[in-house]
Formats: sequence, structure tokens, C-alpha cells
Amino acid sequence: MEKIYGIDLGTTNSCISVLEGGKPVTIPVDGSGIVPSVVSLDGKNMLVGRKAWNRAAAFPRQSIRSVKRLMGTTEELTLGDKSYEPEDISAMILRYLCDEAHRIGGHEVERVVITVPAYFSDAQRRSTMEAGKRAGLTVERIINEPTAAALFYDHVRASSGDASAKDGSAGGRYSLVYDLGGGTFDVSILQMGDIIEVLASTGDTHLGGDDFDNRIVTRILEQIREKDGLNLEDHLPALARLRAVAENAKIALSRKASVWIEETHIPAPRGKNCTVSMELSREAFEDLTEDLVERTITSVEQAMQEARLAPGQIGRVLLVGGMTRMPIIPARLEKIFGAAQMPAVDPDLSVANGAAIQGGIISGENCEQILVDVTPHTLSLKTLSYAGERLFDCVPIIPRNTQIPVTRARTFHTVVRHQELVQLQVYQGESPEPEGNTLIGMTDLKLAKAEANCPIIVEYSYDLNGIVHLVGEQKGYSRKTELRIDSRNPELFGSQDLTEIEDGEDEDESAEGNSEDAGSAVNFVTQRARTLIAGMEAGEARDLLSSLLVRYEEALRDGGDEGDVDEIEDELLSLMEDGVEEDEEDDEEE
Ligand code: AMP
Repeated sequence: MEKIYGIDLGTTNSCISVLEGGKPVTIPVDGSGIVPSVVSLDGKNMLVGRKAWNRAAAFPRQSIRSVKRLMGTTEELTLGDKSYEPEDISAMILRYLCDEAHRIGGHEVERVVITVPAYFSDAQRRSTMEAGKRAGLTVERIINEPTAAALFYDHVRASSGDASAKDGSAGGRYSLVYDLGGGTFDVSILQMGDIIEVLASTGDTHLGGDDFDNRIVTRILEQIREKDGLNLEDHLPALARLRAVAENAKIALSRKASVWIEETHIPAPRGKNCTVSMELSREAFEDLTEDLVERTITSVEQAMQEARLAPGQIGRVLLVGGMTRMPIIPARLEKIFGAAQMPAVDPDLSVANGAAIQGGIISGENCEQILVDVTPHTLSLKTLSYAGERLFDCVPIIPRNTQIPVTRARTFHTVVRHQELVQLQVYQGESPEPEGNTLIGMTDLKLAKAEANCPIIVEYSYDLNGIVHLVGEQKGYSRKTELRIDSRNPELFGSQDLTEIEDGEDEDESAEGNSEDAGSAVNFVTQRARTLIAGMEAGEARDLLSSLLVRYEEALRDGGDEGDVDEIEDELLSLMEDGVEEDEEDDEEE
């Protein structure tokens, strides 16, 4: 049977594992299996991993670290006289891991499962897929890192004979995965059982060990400025050296109460150099970085709220990522979760091992657990807004944290008579405004001639691989358009598959040209309510309608249960009808 390897493609370090005899085994690439996610150009040779890491401090301009932070962006990276996309650099790391795994284990690596932070956007997931493709690999699945970690923890418990592993009764039904790595922070809440269900996941793609290192670097730079009058803030060679020094100090502080930072020959501009000698206590370091730890705690609280759970309901707290070795992390979490179990499993290897288990499940080696995931972001549709202060809204169709695979539809309405088209723009993100979200695809739905307020049904589906499928339909006219935003084939992004069924009614092109605004779908209920409120006298009836409208808009924005939204919508519509009837009666009386 051809093996499917699991790869943790980390910001700072990467790791590759595979199932051997039903057990995940980390392949000892670069000795420990923890491979720095660094590339460095040495003459004509491209070094990757530990060798590149060793070179990066001395040759920062010829080296690239933390490329994961750029995934999904169009940033160009230069090494020597060539420029690269982030996917190219990640592909080099993937290729290196697979070549080394082949060299060590004797088996060619072709099929892989790659992990990403749960908080990664579709663009970042697609970019990771693309990196796999450029490395010549078949990416079977992209899975969330915390989900992989939980799979591994469960596997360890099950194989150690803990019968409660699967129902989670020893650790409670719910687990929280706290993953603080080199460059990203993720927190997820999982419901354990035959199916591992991700109830909530959130985090920060720009918070990790590098930020902690930078706090120490800033402290050292201050000392150099005071002592030698040198400003090294923009001097790359000095910064690269000091980052390595800071990281070593940080790691040492996980074991010791205090460290001496001693460094000589720190490069400075115009051929100068300088030294640093300072003591840093764990306490002082914890003070320097308290706000960073608290940022992670804010995310933890947010995830708890999203999962609608209290701390006492969390039975297990799983620590993932090298940074969780800092004593302050378990101590701080213990303050919230009390005596929740924090199993001692290597936080660096659990994600790749979990990915290898998922690889085994796909290839049919181990089918015990099935993963259930959630959408990491809200998927919404851009619509015309009548809020006054802005022109467009993002109306959620699939709210964040909805269990996937999922299909949801909402009805919108055209604005003008004989409207020729609606432009369906798919946005991803939590903002009520399009500007605060990411546009991930768009397609036009050409319309048959109809009166204004014609219903347009927009359906989104989201599958286990993060592929979004949109269907837009003009109700009653058989006009349809479809769009696939395919994370396996990023080049399909933005493309459209227009499936129109002519109804013979709309060949007349004489309808009035549409403005861009008229081309957007609109939430007609909101529009009507606002117009009605604007024309109403101050009083109880207006207050009632306004407060219901606010509730409706909040429900749309927060992406509550579809049933809730529909219920409020019905209430709003019937209240509006009452209002209109009353107005008409008043008119008649006059
Ligand atoms: P990861 O992305 O999970 O590989 O985590 C890498 C991060 O963990 C880097 O910022 C490392 O400096 C940090 N790290 C590794 N070991 C330790 C340790 N013992 N104490 C504190 N931080 C560590």
C-alpha cells in the first residue's frame, strides 16, 4: 500500500511523519526530525533546513525564514539574482523533507497530508496546496493543525490502553488545543468521541515565538544604544544575529530562572562591531511579554464563547508548538481551567504525527476516527446596503465555525425593473463591510427580464477540502450561474462556469443599462424596513420596528442559526405589513 505522509509545514520548523505498523513515526530529518523552515542560498546551492538555519544568521540577505507568514500573498522574495513566490520557497522546504524522508526510509514520498493553522484563510490554504504541487506532490488533504494534534493525543491514549480515549470520559468531552508556534497562534475547541468535532477555532496568524524573541532583541538594542550610541534597528546583519541570541535566551529561560546574554562582535555599520552583556531573569522576560501571552488568552476566551462552553467543561488542554514549553503558558492556562489535564506529549511532533494518522485514515490503514471540521471564516455575499453611512454590506451565508461539509442558501432580491444582471461576490471574513473582508471569487448572473424585487437564490457549499461552490439562481426564470473556488486548483480562482438555461424571454437587450450598484444583489427586507422607518413618525411603532431591524441585521451579521434569522425576518415582514396596512387605513380616514 502506498503510504501517505503527514507534514507539519511550520513557520519556524517543519516535520514529516508516517504510520509504521499503525503508529506514527517522525522521520529523523536533520537529526531530530525538527527541521528549520529556512532556505539559504550558498553560491549556487540552495540549502534548506538546519544547514540553511546555520547560515541564515551570518547571511540574512541570502536567506528566507518564516515564509509561512507570506503564504497567500503576492510578495516577491529575492535570493541571489532570482525572485520567488512564497509558494516556491515552501515547495523547497516540502521537497527537502520528502527527499530526506526517501533517503532515510527508502520509500519515495508522493502523497501527503499537510497541516495549516485552523485560522488560515482560503487563500492561504490554496497557497499551501500550490506549494505542494510545485514540490511535485499530491496533496491529499489540508487539515487543521489542532485537529491533527488531537488525533495524535487520542491515538497515544488509545494505544496506551486507555479505554476512555475515544469517548474522552477521562479527560471530559471537550478538549482545548492551545498551539503557540514560531509565527502563529491557534486555539481550537474539540468535541471528542468517535468523531472529533471542531466546535470553534480562532487565533492570530501574526503572533508567535518570533514576537517574543523580538522583545528581547529590543531590550538588547536599547542597551547598545545607551552604551555605545549605536542604532542597529535597521542593520540587518546585527538583527539576524541578535534574533538568534534572543531565541537561545528565551529557550534557556524555560529551564532556568535567569540567563546571561553575552555576545561579542555584533556587526554594526561601517565595519564597526559591538558587544552586549546583560542578565535577563525569567520574571523580567515574562513582564516584557505579558501582553503577548494575554493576547493568546483573549483568543482562548473568544473560542470558549463561540463554543458556548464554560472553563469547567474543558476536560483536557492540549499544548502544541515549541513556545508552550515556556512555564508561563501552562501556568496561565491552569488559572483558567484549573486541574484540566495537560498531557505531556512532545509539542513539536504531535501535529505531523496527527497528519500521518489522517494519511493512514485516507489510505485505509486506520479508519477509527473521522474528522469533522468547521469553516474557519464566515462566507458572505456583497449586497447593496441602505444603512446610509455605507453602500455595501456583507451578508453571511455560511457563518464561521459551521460544521463542514455544509450547504446553505439565502434569498436576495433585485433592485430595479428589467435588471440585467447581479454580480455575486463571495467574501470571506467577519466584518459587516466588504472592505474588512477578503474577496475570494465572483461571478455574474445574467437575468431574464423581470419586475424589481425578483428573488435571487444564492447557495454556498463548503467541503472538507475548503472548496467553495456557489450557485446563483433567478427564481422562476431558470437562470443560473455556478462558481467553484477550488483550493486544489488555485488557477481556477475567480473563473466561472456559467450555466445558463435560456427561457426565450429575455433576448431583448433594450433594458436600461445597469449601474454597478444596481448590479448587486440587495437585502430587500432591510431596504424596505429602512425606507418605512424613515417615513414613520417618532413613537412606539417606529421604535419597535427599528429595534427589530437592528436584531435582524445583527443576526445576519453574527451568522446565528439559519432558523433564528428566518424567524426574525418573518417577524419583521409581518410587522412591516401591519405598518403599511395601518398607514393605508389612516390615508382612507383622511
Ligand atoms: P514551532 O513553530 O512549533 O516549531 O515552535 C517554534 C517556536 O518555539 C520557536 O519560536 C522556538 O524558539 C520556540 N521554542 C522551542 N523550544 C522552546 C523552549 N524550550 N522554550 C521556549 N520556546 C521554545
